[in-house]
Amino acid sequence: MSAAGRAEGAPLVLHADKCPERAPKVAVPDVWVSPDGEVLDAGWLASLGCPNPRRGGAFRLPDGQLVPVGCGSYRCEYCRVRDALVLCEMVRETCAVNGPPQVALTLTSWRPTYNRWSRDVRALTATLRGAFGPFVHLGFLEWTTGLAERSGGHRRGHMHLLARGLDPGRAADANELAGREWKRLTGATRVEAEAIRTEAAVIAYLGRHHVKQAQAPPESFTGRRTRPSRGWYGPLDSKQVRQRATTVVADRAHRARVVQQRAAAFGELVAEGLPEVAAADAVYGPEHDPLPIPPREPAEFVKLRRLGERWVPERRETESERFRRAMTARRPADAA
Ligand SMILES: [Zn+2]
Repeated sequence: MSAAGRAEGAPLVLHADKCPERAPKVAVPDVWVSPDGEVLDAGWLASLGCPNPRRGGAFRLPDGQLVPVGCGSYRCEYCRVRDALVLCEMVRETCAVNGPPQVALTLTSWRPTYNRWSRDVRALTATLRGAFGPFVHLGFLEWTTGLAERSGGHRRGHMHLLARGLDPGRAADANELAGREWKRLTGATRVEAEAIRTEAAVIAYLGRHHVKQAQAPPESFTGRRTRPSRGWYGPLDSKQVRQRATTVVADRAHRARVVQQRAAAFGELVAEGLPEVAAADAVYGPEHDPLPIPPREPAEFVKLRRLGERWVPERRETESERFRRAMTARRPADAA
């Protein structure tokens, strides 16, 4: 084909006779088949809420329902919510055992590339300990969206510290000293320290900064988002605390799912014409003996098979085939 006859956007092929005709890759729709033959389409994948669920596998719940597997990345809007809930639960248990932190400290950064949190936070807290006595802390990193007018489109990190053992009556002094020291260390000028008094306030603070407003780390970030100081967990084993928190969050999700399923089943029965009392009896059990919520059973991982090939090679005509077709197309006209 001549360059002039080339379709808009098609690659310019200068050596058509030398280039092998390659079949382009054509994506097939995301359709998967479970080991039992259940066909799962893109709508099923999207039902999880994670924009990039793992392909080729699913969790089978004890009732047989198949649920997509999330990507699990803390960059993911959907998957990191569970992480944040687990962190909340970990902090709740740590507070219950060791008492709540008394001061929340926010440290900002001004260079978008700033990445020396560990070293500078260690230096800052050493100075604060020198002035106010020993305390332990839990730090968690957050990022701005980079959408604010003065941000220049850059996403800047900031760290929230929950400090246990700092006198809340001296939060203003701590604010002043931390502000001076943080500016000397990093050049950033904004530091805020506020006194917090109750466990509930701690969870609210975490929810405000880590669950709701949390912004995913930028692509360049590879470190840890939560950073406990030595002693933060007190006598607790942090691995066990995480394990228990994960179980609590999974149990809560399970109960919510059962409640939702029962509400849906109740609605269906009523829509079918069953009186509400009878529908409630069927779904929730009789009033004097309500059906308990069954305990959560671990989900089983099952492999899925893609329906069709990963890509379907689209057969393209070769030059000689095109020529032959053009010739044979002309011939009947000639014969007529
Ligand atoms: Zn995800």
